[in-house]
Amino acid sequence: MQEPRAGSRSRPIAVLLLAVIYAASASVGQHVAIPPGNVTAFFPASGIALAGLLLGGQKLWPGVWLGSFLVNTWAIFDTTSFARTATTTLVGATIGMGATIEALAAARVFPPWDRDGGPPLARVLDVARFTALSGLGCSITSATLGTTSLFAGSLITTTDYAETWLTWWLGDAVGILVITPLVLTCVRPRWWAFQGRGVEIALHQVALFAFQMFLVTGTLADRGAHCPLGHFITPFLVWAGVRLGPLGAALAVFNVSVFATLGTEHGTTPFVQGTRNESLLFVQAFVGDMALTTLVLAAVITERRRAEWALSRSRDELDRHVEERTAALTESEERYRILVEVSPDAILLERFDADGVLRIAYANAAAARLFGVTSAAELISRPLFDFVLAEREAIARRGVMDALEHGNLGPVDGWVARADGTAVEVEVMLARVPRGGKRALLAIYRDITRRKQIEQERAALYREAEASIRARDEFLSIASHELKTPLTALSLKLQALARSLPADPDIAAKIAPALDVALRQTTRLSTLVDELLDVSRITQGRMELCLDEDIDLAAVVEDVVQRMQDTAVRAGCELRLDSDAAVVGCWDRSRVEQVLINLLSNAIKYGAKAPIDVRVRDEGASASFSVTDRGIGIPAEDQARIFDRFERAVSVRHFGGFGLGLWIARRIVEALGGTILVESTPGEGATFTVTLPRAPTPAGP
Ligand code: ADP
Repeated sequence: MQEPRAGSRSRPIAVLLLAVIYAASASVGQHVAIPPGNVTAFFPASGIALAGLLLGGQKLWPGVWLGSFLVNTWAIFDTTSFARTATTTLVGATIGMGATIEALAAARVFPPWDRDGGPPLARVLDVARFTALSGLGCSITSATLGTTSLFAGSLITTTDYAETWLTWWLGDAVGILVITPLVLTCVRPRWWAFQGRGVEIALHQVALFAFQMFLVTGTLADRGAHCPLGHFITPFLVWAGVRLGPLGAALAVFNVSVFATLGTEHGTTPFVQGTRNESLLFVQAFVGDMALTTLVLAAVITERRRAEWALSRSRDELDRHVEERTAALTESEERYRILVEVSPDAILLERFDADGVLRIAYANAAAARLFGVTSAAELISRPLFDFVLAEREAIARRGVMDALEHGNLGPVDGWVARADGTAVEVEVMLARVPRGGKRALLAIYRDITRRKQIEQERAALYREAEASIRARDEFLSIASHELKTPLTALSLKLQALARSLPADPDIAAKIAPALDVALRQTTRLSTLVDELLDVSRITQGRMELCLDEDIDLAAVVEDVVQRMQDTAVRAGCELRLDSDAAVVGCWDRSRVEQVLINLLSNAIKYGAKAPIDVRVRDEGASASFSVTDRGIGIPAEDQARIFDRFERAVSVRHFGGFGLGLWIARRIVEALGGTILVESTPGEGATFTVTLPRAPTPAGP
């Protein structure tokens, strides 16, 4: 049971309140007190004390002590003389202590209850525990301490001890049995309120009241113990126990106990005995008995009602759960069905029947289309191998066995024999159905006729493209060969003409510039034709290297730079050479020259009339040369591409060229086992670096 409630700030008020209520209820009890000890056979204050501690927390115990102390001290003063003040006070304090211990102990052993759910004492075992421990058990402490202190204070004699103790014990126990359930259920009436019994409880109370009034005041009352009508109180108690829950029962018990006690006091009940004390003890025994029976009955019924309520709640819950689950399943099944139905792939469930024939158990609309039947229903139960080409049946059977064995198969290519006798090429995937053992398969067939068609078209296109490239290369090869012969003859003739200019200086001066232009254009033409010839040699794998072991790279570069200085100067650039001493290796001199001439021609062409630096470096196992210009540069995204055939990063309108020079250079460098790289910032120029191993390691195929 959780520890309740009264916060530390409001606690003093709660303590005082409890003391006041305790004292008030104790005074009520005192009306039926019996001398010499003024012990009462009905003591509602003990029930108030327990209810107070249960509802307000055990820390309110000083309220119990104070209430008890005040009432008892006052009562003792009443019956003894003021001269014995000290003793009286001590006796009052001890009695208060007994009451406090009783209330604390009773609260400790009170059956725990769910403060947010049903009321206290709603179970039979709880009522039994409450009656035995809190009621009968704990009252012993108060009775013993109280009676003993009265005895010690000489307020009772040895002869009175036993009777006083019994009265005290019974009075406290009955007080607890009658009052505590009443207070607790009144303060926490949730359970019965929800049961809608409020009006019935009120009616019951009125009826009970009226009936008891009739019993104790009517002429019948005059007949006292001889009147059997008193027994008719039982149906009222049964009514309360069966129908009105813990609150109704507690109210009935209270109602009856008040009437029985007061009635006995006035001698109008059948409990009246020889002495007043005997009568009161007799009535309290009845009250305790009646309280226990009624409370137990109420608890039994409440327990049953509660169980029924819980059962119906869990049934409702279950129904709701089932409904939700069914809806979710229907929805997911619907989604799954739609997915399968709209799938463009044929989806089939195939299952072996008892004779070992693999039959179609389910097929979607796409399957009907693929297999050439009008509806999927037509496929159900048909043997799968009806739709397999006879010549491929063995392969198909192996595939099925494979899928059953390993869980899945594919995708693999296959054929479907359609109902109309034609065949469709398909891609097949098979999967063993998880819970179907080795007897069921899920199969997905995809029509790949169109894909195959596209693949064939692509292959044809590729072949055509290859053929036209071959034709172009052949044409280039023949054309460049055919061009080369007349070009060489023309060049020779022009050179001869330049050597034999007429003696007349005037005529010579007129012819010489034109001849010079003709010669330069012929040289340019010849270079272009050489490039084309190289292309066809390289593409046909006919580029031959002429290796020489004693090539000095520095000397080769210097020679080329000198030869090209004129051209460079004419173009407005200056060639500057920075070279290590001799760098000797095994290379093809004319091919190395060709690469350098290519790089220098580009540097002059794209170099924006700025100086061009040529460097040669000895790098141990390799040698390198580089050409740096300060021209237009090359955008980063073009830097890899320009080494490919016909690739250019400038427009034809501004700069002439085939886009072959760098491709040829790269192929030559690679044939020598080296590399060619470019570094460039657009607008700032470019550096091409060629690195060659001293002895060429042949490049890959
Ligand atoms: P071509 O010069 O005949 O176009 P190349 O293969 O020699 O062919 O060069 C390919 C492309 O690389 C050129 O069109 C040009 O865009 C770029 N390129 C080559 N060298 C340079 C350079 N030094 N500066 C800027 N761009 C260059």
